[in-house]
Amino acid sequence: MPHDFLQPLVGSFAMPAGENPTVAMIEAAFRHHGLNWRYINCEVAPRDLGDAVRGARAMGWRGFNCSIPHKVTVIEHLDGLGRSAEIIGAVNTVVRHEDGRLIGENTDGKGFVRALSEVTEPSGQRAVLFGAGGAARAVAVEMALAGVSHITVVNRSPARGEAVARLIDDRTPASAEYRPWEGSFRVPQGTRLVVNATSVGLYPDVDATPDIDHDSLTPDMVVADGIHNPPLTKLLRAAQARGCKTADGLGMLVGQGVIGLKHWTGIDADAGVMRRALRDLGL
Ligand code: NDP
Repeated sequence: MPHDFLQPLVGSFAMPAGENPTVAMIEAAFRHHGLNWRYINCEVAPRDLGDAVRGARAMGWRGFNCSIPHKVTVIEHLDGLGRSAEIIGAVNTVVRHEDGRLIGENTDGKGFVRALSEVTEPSGQRAVLFGAGGAARAVAVEMALAGVSHITVVNRSPARGEAVARLIDDRTPASAEYRPWEGSFRVPQGTRLVVNATSVGLYPDVDATPDIDHDSLTPDMVVADGIHNPPLTKLLRAAQARGCKTADGLGMLVGQGVIGLKHWTGIDADAGVMRRALRDLGL
């Protein structure tokens, strides 16, 4: 009986790399779908990134994820960018195309929209987005490309908040404005999507929560949180208590994995299997 001992390879380049659970989620999907592939989690220092990408090319890797601190600097080592990665200016998923070119994509925001779409149809809705860092930028661009009509960006530092609002106005079909974050923020009536893309509430600071007036949350709003650890943040608990539907950061992480696997292997991976793999780790 013929054997094939050559496993197609994908993986991740980041620093630190040891706390990223993506490998467990992706390899669970490989096993479930009978794919004899491997996902190799690599710790790569900034000065070694070029060598790592050249190594991936030399070894025929089908693609790789990039995380902190490589999401922007990887671009100079690639052959092109997908549409939203170009607008966002950062890459977290690299895909080797059939002609051998390495193309950078950004699935941070796409994974978020995928998870959000399981709860509501974002098209035509008005959103309030808290945060203006890398995750918020990706989430804002993908919400706009998915048809969200208006985004109010609320951020502690005005410069970053204004930059994200301007990016949405200039480069996407949606409109956007920046609002300063002074005291407890009241979400305006007519808002349908409320999104936390700050790092407030992330483990180990699980008792922290973004300064949002919970009494301004009404049951016609969907409240989403990018934080995956813990999945049920203080904000999401408050939203559920007020009758809002919610989407958690674990769904965003799984959504990114599903989209990455589609790019690399062509399969539609079972999101439930991937979410269970993360839950089995205690997430
Ligand atoms: P950044 O460091 O780029 O941005 C952090 C953001 O949080 C900024 O907007 C910052 O505001 C804001 N912030 C931090 N501390 C405070 C505070 N005390 N009060 C108010 N605002 C604050 O991080 P990322 O954008 O990369 O990540 C943000 C979060 O998204 C993290 O929790 C990360 O875990 C999560 N994430 C989740 C993913 C998933 O798949 N679930 C994927 C990627 C990220 P300022 O500009 O004023 O500093």
